[in-house]
Amino acid sequence: MGMVNTAGGPVDASALGQTLTHEHVNIRTPGVRENWPERSNREAARTNAISRINAAKALGIRSFVDLTTADMGRDPELLREVQAITGVNIVVATGIYWMVPRYWHGRDADDLAKAFIADFEQGIQGTGVKPGAIKLATDQGAGGMDEVNEKCLRAGARAHRATGLPILTHNGPPASAADQQRIFKDEGVDLSHVAVGHVGDTADVGFLKSLMDGGGVIALDRFGMDPILSFDERVNTLVKLCGDGYADRIVLAHDSCCGIDWAPDISQMATRMPNWHMAHISEKVLPALLERGVSEAQIEELMVANPGRLLDPAKPY
Ligand SMILES: [Zn+2]
Repeated sequence: MGMVNTAGGPVDASALGQTLTHEHVNIRTPGVRENWPERSNREAARTNAISRINAAKALGIRSFVDLTTADMGRDPELLREVQAITGVNIVVATGIYWMVPRYWHGRDADDLAKAFIADFEQGIQGTGVKPGAIKLATDQGAGGMDEVNEKCLRAGARAHRATGLPILTHNGPPASAADQQRIFKDEGVDLSHVAVGHVGDTADVGFLKSLMDGGGVIALDRFGMDPILSFDERVNTLVKLCGDGYADRIVLAHDSCCGIDWAPDISQMATRMPNWHMAHISEKVLPALLERGVSEAQIEELMVANPGRLLDPAKPY
């Protein structure tokens, strides 16, 4: 297998071990720290991240993908520090979130793709840290797949074909994942290099199978967000998919945030969603899967083989 870029340098894709494909060390609003440093939560996020990552590491997690893009306050130095301290590999993302900054509205898909490719070729913010994944997002909060969103998806698809980096996405609601796949296919993307995300927020097994039947990968990456869909519904959906032969096309995560400045107090989110942390899958989901008939070999696919294959960079095409 090839080498995957992490905050601490390249790691062999076959050596990533148990991997969560969508988490966040620290999401912050660009511009706040620069103008009002007293509002920065960097140190709290760092301390919290180290303790949360170490808790997951103690249960077997060896790597995760941090899908925090530039417009979400990406901080490659912080990720490099946290990887050095915890020893857990952090795959850093290029790409763009669904609240597209005004700067990109009047610029075309190729220009946006150039920015993603520059991260890959030159490193991020002069740190030398290179991305190992491209994050893209579609959300009804911004009108779903409008012209601007479609442009972002096409930019990511072109950057994927130029760099070989896999694409991992956000969807709100899950149904937009089918639209994303349509755009990626239109751009000539091999869907085995794309994990459409947040689709575990639905228990519609037929829809999830339809996303995989064309060769795509799905990310059931919001374990612990129980107010959106319950623990049992999330687990039973995965059990059904494994039983029906889909265990080789699914990756898992929590979309958890060790720090996020979008709410005045992150502890309120933790109170509302006590299972929303990086150790939840290891602690509660994997044992429940085993109890409900998923095999050890299938768990190895979900946690090690599938994320390793997804993150293994393609040859540019
Ligand atoms: Zn996320």
